Amino acid sequence: MSTAPLSAITLESRFAQELGELSVPWQADDVADPRMLVLNEPLAAELGLAPGWLRGEEGTRLLVGNLVPEGARPVAQAYSGHQFGSFSPRLGDGRALLLGEVVDAGGRRRDLHLKGSGRTPFARGGDGLAAVGPMLREYVLSEAMHALGIPTTRSLAVVATGRQVRRETLLPGAVLTRVASSHLRVGSFQYARATGDPGLLRRLADHAIRRHHPHAARAENPYLALFEAVVTAQAELVAQWMLVGFVHGVMNTDNTTISGETIDYGPCAFLDGFDPAAVYSSIDVGGRYAYRNQPVVAEWNLARLAETLLPLVHEDQDRAVEQVQTSLRGFAGQYSTVWKAGLRAKLGLAGDHGDDLVEQLIDELFPLLAADRVDHTSFFRLLGRAARGDTGPVRGLFLDLPAVDAWVERWRALGPEAAAMDRVNPVYIPRNHLVEEALEAATAGDPEPLTGLLEAVTDPYVERPGLDRYAEPAPDTFGPYTTYCGT
Ligand code: AMP
Ligand code: MG
Repeated sequence: MSTAPLSAITLESRFAQELGELSVPWQADDVADPRMLVLNEPLAAELGLAPGWLRGEEGTRLLVGNLVPEGARPVAQAYSGHQFGSFSPRLGDGRALLLGEVVDAGGRRRDLHLKGSGRTPFARGGDGLAAVGPMLREYVLSEAMHALGIPTTRSLAVVATGRQVRRETLLPGAVLTRVASSHLRVGSFQYARATGDPGLLRRLADHAIRRHHPHAARAENPYLALFEAVVTAQAELVAQWMLVGFVHGVMNTDNTTISGETIDYGPCAFLDGFDPAAVYSSIDVGGRYAYRNQPVVAEWNLARLAETLLPLVHEDQDRAVEQVQTSLRGFAGQYSTVWKAGLRAKLGLAGDHGDDLVEQLIDELFPLLAADRVDHTSFFRLLGRAARGDTGPVRGLFLDLPAVDAWVERWRALGPEAAAMDRVNPVYIPRNHLVEEALEAATAGDPEPLTGLLEAVTDPYVERPGLDRYAEPAPDTFGPYTTYCGT
């Protein structure tokens, strides 16, 4: 077991130093008996944290925030947010702490952040705590997203606190250690703007430029360039969600990052049977954050970011509005370019296969998938087998065989590349029934199903023997899936 003293770890606090108005110095609750449930050893190594040491007493205490290196300044971050369309001026980290920033082996600055570490001044009515199940859920989902190549916050560890958390029932508590390129959100800008302090807004924008979009500093109008960089990052992100069938579930502006990383895995889920209107979150009764709405919602959230930046973009506010509107209009085109290129790759038609024919096939595909509620992930993966001539498995997903046969025949005539398809169409995603099974078992003290699931979803493109059940849709008995927020 390797050891490294706590003093060898440097946690910087650039956010806290540069943006004191958005930072409340705070401490985690004492945890009497922390117990490691899962540790991400490759990520620990990237961060220069020895896994053996993290598993030991000091390391585990660091991961619940009870022991921090000298000089560290943990803070709760202030932010606002539009939640389901209505503005809350003061949200902030109610149950989270930014421990500080680690500069990783590649020289990148990354936030070390705790979730479930106790009440903060932003807790409002909340208890500041988190239960084992939802924290493991974030761990599994975020690591699966990372393995799929989609920008996301990462999960370093989940540590059980030994404390009970009151939800509908009493549940065991846990702290998640999250790693992110930052926790700057649209909501951070909304908060800074709402203070009415133009200096703060400018400092926040400069901080974001330095940290995420440094090329903007050299642009003629750096703040407009910052906005455009976020538009691009979000367009690319949401296009990738759509391609893999991810439904975030709670795309509030406080859950929309400036970096373009996916953040806050609450009531999210992957599509099973294809349904453009799919909603999994129990509280999303109007379907605001349904699968098909995600690009539109992202654009709406970016409009809220634009509003905050107006004073920085141009001193004449009418000109500023015109400029950000022009930039925001770029969203749709950028989204659709990434989505189309991604879909062509999924169909094995990334090369020169004739644009019109491919477009037609794409247009016809989704109604077919929707009509028979075809499993999204299985469809694309099994289509790879059809590209090799084995059409049986993909046909088996449909009821309307003449329709799918006609589509497959025209598609095959274009010469799809099977091996390329297997590199972009995952076999293993965190399927809802398996996630639930793993969380339930882990909550009851059995880590095996979680270990198995993680093994499958962290290497999603390579089909391996013995992992068949991770590739299969839920049995019919699983029923409609609902996820719960505020967990
Ligand atoms: P979320 O839906 O997780 O993005 O959280 C929205 C807001 O509610 C954030 O300000 C969170 O910090 C806060 N929050 C969520 N759960 C709790 C909790 N159990 N205790 C305190 N604050 C919470
Ligand atoms: Mg949030």
